[in-house]
Amino acid sequence: MKKVGIYLLILITICFVMPTLLTKRGKEVTAHTENETEKETTPEETSKEEKSQIFDMSATYDYKKYGTIKLLHKSTGEVEEIPIDEYLCHVVSAEMPVDFELEALKAQAIVARTYTIYKIGNKKHEEADICDDSKCCQAWISKEDRLARWEERKQESNWAKIQEAVNKTSGLIITYQNMPINAFFHSNSGGTTEIPVNVWGGTGYPYLQSVETSGEEAYTQYLSEVTITNEELLNKLKETHPEVTIDFADQDSIKILEYTESSRVKTVKFGNIEIAGTEARTIFGLRSTNFEITREDGTIKFTVKGYGHGVGMSQTGADSLAKQGKTATEIIHHFYTGVEIKEVNEL
Ligand SMILES: [Zn+2]
Repeated sequence: MKKVGIYLLILITICFVMPTLLTKRGKEVTAHTENETEKETTPEETSKEEKSQIFDMSATYDYKKYGTIKLLHKSTGEVEEIPIDEYLCHVVSAEMPVDFELEALKAQAIVARTYTIYKIGNKKHEEADICDDSKCCQAWISKEDRLARWEERKQESNWAKIQEAVNKTSGLIITYQNMPINAFFHSNSGGTTEIPVNVWGGTGYPYLQSVETSGEEAYTQYLSEVTITNEELLNKLKETHPEVTIDFADQDSIKILEYTESSRVKTVKFGNIEIAGTEARTIFGLRSTNFEITREDGTIKFTVKGYGHGVGMSQTGADSLAKQGKTATEIIHHFYTGVEIKEVNEL
């Protein structure tokens, strides 16, 4: 009888508990600063659906074997096989402004390589390892398009700088317990990074802790404002909360109720509803959940610090640290707690 009970317990564990554990893993790497001005009011990562990515524990990372990558071009459906480091030049140049410090670009290259290797072990596309859509996998830009957006006299040196960042870090990825990490990054942390639980729920990651970075206030991504009328506010809320009513004459009707450990908004009250800071960010198109609310003359003003979800490496923070003399390795250890940087083929 006892034995039957044990078998039953094992069966229940396999059927119900295991899948739950396996699907509670990470979310997508998201923020991209390169086209900052085009994206000012629509931080794209908030609209991203939650994605579960489980690293296959049995996967091996033979960098020689993965010397090339099959890249799916989403718009044409074409699958291109290219050397990983060549692919990474296109990724890094799409993800980070080229005028950032070389050490920051090198940190971005290591982050992008980590994510790429992670994706090879967690394929979303049958025919390819990864695609070129930032909303699905990882940002990518063709060399032609990239060069066309730079001043002609700087095209050659800019591309050479990107290549240097990738080649000088060739083969290096970030690991935790000898596994590639889920290397989240974002544009600007507003001074303090966030833990993933406060953005996506779940159980979090030991290597993604809240850390402080100095110098981020010097970047244009640090501070932004969104001002809307009372009526606009109510209409936007009604799209997802038709039951909402707000007595605008009552000063307490709109109020931040709770903050996360990193001083971002956890819960905010609008009249008779209370919503998460992350939802408010999506509804009002705020650059981050680190915001203050002020009310005057029939309008609501959100004053926002930082840009992006705030988890993992801050790109402007990386550049700021590089300007303070930190190396790519030091930058990565600053943003990811307890990690190691290893050669892929050493795993
Ligand atoms: Zn994809």
